[in-house]
Amino acid sequence: MYLYNSLSHKKELFQPNSPDVVKMYTCGPTVYHFAHIGNLRTYIMEDVLEKALRYQGYNVLRVMNITDVGHLASDADTGEDKMLKGAKRENKSVMEIAKFYTDAFFADCEKLNIKRPDVVEPATGCIPEFIAIVQGLLDRGFAYVAGGNVYFDTSRLDKYYVFNDHDEDDLAVGVREGVEEDTNKRNKNDFVLWFTKSKFEDQALKWDSPWGVGYPGWHIECSGISMKHLGEDLDIHAGGIDNAFPHHTNEIAQSESYLGHKWCNYWFHVHHLNTDTGKMSKSKGEFLTVSLLESKGYDPMAYRLFCLQSHYRRNLVFSWENLDNATQAYEKLIAKIATLNPGSDVDEEALAALKERFNNALNGDLNTSLAITAVYDVLKAKCSDATKLAALADFDTVLSLNLISAGETLRKKQEQECLASADPEIDALVQQRTDAKKAKDFATADRIRDELKARGIEIIDTPQGSKWRKV
Ligand code: AMP
Ligand code: ZN
Repeated sequence: MYLYNSLSHKKELFQPNSPDVVKMYTCGPTVYHFAHIGNLRTYIMEDVLEKALRYQGYNVLRVMNITDVGHLASDADTGEDKMLKGAKRENKSVMEIAKFYTDAFFADCEKLNIKRPDVVEPATGCIPEFIAIVQGLLDRGFAYVAGGNVYFDTSRLDKYYVFNDHDEDDLAVGVREGVEEDTNKRNKNDFVLWFTKSKFEDQALKWDSPWGVGYPGWHIECSGISMKHLGEDLDIHAGGIDNAFPHHTNEIAQSESYLGHKWCNYWFHVHHLNTDTGKMSKSKGEFLTVSLLESKGYDPMAYRLFCLQSHYRRNLVFSWENLDNATQAYEKLIAKIATLNPGSDVDEEALAALKERFNNALNGDLNTSLAITAVYDVLKAKCSDATKLAALADFDTVLSLNLISAGETLRKKQEQECLASADPEIDALVQQRTDAKKAKDFATADRIRDELKARGIEIIDTPQGSKWRKV
């Protein structure tokens, strides 16, 4: 599989360090609020990547953190802890907030058929591991204590901006607009590994450490949790593009300085879901959730299809119109699948050709929009319905759009509706249409269909012949 690697700015042939397992790490949610559908775009695309690797025969071990401490209001080191803000907003304890929104996150993932990673680890469960890394960085001279906090010393690195050749002044933490300068820092880009001093004295969760009672910085948690479960090297690290700087940049700085060697080979960044007013963002307060889509009558699968229709390295613009289009496309797709007759034979050669097309789409930097085209190609292919169903079931191990189960559910529903609306006169007209079609008298067949439609009757062509229902 060729994957775009943000580190090299190129598509590269994916080769894991070990043939036995692909070690994959993904940044998890900060659980102070519901995940918005932008966050979930990132999780959907990471889910597809994991499933595509499994589809290609790799054994994947995927680890994800839950950020329940240390993520401050800004992605740099300033402001209040987001968890504490959430707890105050809802008059609950930080741990109550964390539990509620972690459960809500996984409930949303389930609705979107996003598989739960093999290991899910809350940051608050790994404090001793973080302390060990911070101590190791101090011992190796990559960190210093100032004003009660422990900072990473970015001046010790040959190259800090690994993803982009940013102008140091443009992006330097501490000089960006709205970010207060931290006078303890020796260099503008230095970041906090461990806090004991904060303006926000009411920080709820604190732990003892060699540097005093405090709490970890946000970046250290992903390095620590990854090393705890995946060891000293990593094949793929994934996250949203906004995490490339400073979060992932800092993860690399501290992990490689601590380990003394390269840490992660491939960086997979999903671009943003935007609205017409800009990036959808949790901290802005107003955002769209899966529950909101459902309350408006949308099927979460339509949103998943909407995401799959575009490439993960392009910004995606959300609008209700775009979601309506995806909904129509999904409904049409399922209606078509519902007409396929499973009772025929599978043509293995034709199936292999269809699978190859799908696999090629995945191989081209996870081109999910081409993978969706491969689904339409199946429906148009000249092969038995059983072959089509076998191909769709195979593709859906990656796409997870419920192609087979939703098709079956629709077919059964339509059959029941047809039974419930039995009427000999209509039966006779439907039979006349079938006879006309057999005789290739399509003008008559179409006329009967239109007449029935005008009376509120829809003809459904099923594997067992034409049926009808009232609409
Ligand atoms: P958070 O819960 O804020 O830590 O973010 C969870 C994940 O969602 C991270 O990987 C972010 O990079 C990603 N993310 C945040 N906003 C968006 C967006 N508008 N579109 C896509 N991904 C996003
Ligand atoms: Zn992370």
